[in-house]
Amino acid sequence: MRTLLPHAELRDVALRPAATARVWLGAGMPLETVAVPGVALASGDVLVAVELSTICGSDVHTVRGDRPSPVPVVLGHESVGRVIALGDGGARTADGGELRVGDRVVWSVTVSCGTCNRCECGLPQKCRTLAKYGHERIEPRWELTGGFATHVHLRRGTAIVRASESLPAAALAPASCATATAWAAVARAGRDLEGVSVRVYGAGLVGLSAAAIAADLGARVSVVDPSAQRRLLAERFGAEPDADDAAPTVVIEASGHAVAEAIASVDVGGTVILVGSVFPAAPVALDAEDLVRRLVTITGVHNYTGTDLVDAVAFLAGRGRAYPFADMVGAVHPLGDADVALAAAAAPGAPLRVGLAPR
Ligand SMILES: [Zn+2]
Ligand SMILES: [Zn+2]
Repeated sequence: MRTLLPHAELRDVALRPAATARVWLGAGMPLETVAVPGVALASGDVLVAVELSTICGSDVHTVRGDRPSPVPVVLGHESVGRVIALGDGGARTADGGELRVGDRVVWSVTVSCGTCNRCECGLPQKCRTLAKYGHERIEPRWELTGGFATHVHLRRGTAIVRASESLPAAALAPASCATATAWAAVARAGRDLEGVSVRVYGAGLVGLSAAAIAADLGARVSVVDPSAQRRLLAERFGAEPDADDAAPTVVIEASGHAVAEAIASVDVGGTVILVGSVFPAAPVALDAEDLVRRLVTITGVHNYTGTDLVDAVAFLAGRGRAYPFADMVGAVHPLGDADVALAAAAAPGAPLRVGLAPR
């Protein structure tokens, strides 16, 4: 729970017309529209006007009732927007630059305190007082908490990254979930990937992004997915159809459905990075003797640090332009049709991302 500063330290920003947020109240209920006529920005807070948000698979899981969420909640944690107001004293980007009104930005899914023992040891995504955009019950003075809205109220402790004006919004919106998570997953391999065989399980947006990042680092990447269409798509993200090695050195499990296979397939001395298991599933049996004898490392990745987001956005703006990230967003719906957009994102054969844009 946020500790509110005395009113004198808050900067009131009136919004004309009022900001609107689409609020989810529970499975099977239509989204409600909440008008927010103004916000009170604390020092370090930033108000952003949303350009585009995308609907992540986890939003779909929440709406289906597969994943617990507090309500009422403004869903959406993948957005790109523009700074329209700053709290007193201004705010800084994750890499230390000064933020200005008008900057085009993306921001981390997490808000971290920066001072607890986890933040201090490099785990801000597991801060003791963590808050997450698109995941929090709305509260007075912090209603604009998710991407399904015209505006988002970013709190001090959010990693904010300036985004290139020349990149399509569709490439940038998923940066704060899929791309940064994929960056963190590939980095966890902890080795030079030049010439190394990397297998990715799952050709969702995290898996495809991980494939592109690993391929760009020189890895020979194969992607395993039950869908032939997704496997073909993976080739546009750097996967080599003939790269499959019986025993890859690095395995990134981005589906949540192939954990046992991922662990069984990795080479002696290899590393298995589990990143897709973000929903409840049956436990997986581990053969400890086998892991010991094969010198296997298994590691989990959940969310990412501000540095990962900085690096992911730099990748999208640089060598990542060689991959069709922006094409992964299908139809973009107006915010008023967020229910329609959610249904489209949950439909069989849906594009990897469906967009929502304030009009
Ligand atoms: Zn997400
Ligand atoms: Zn902390």
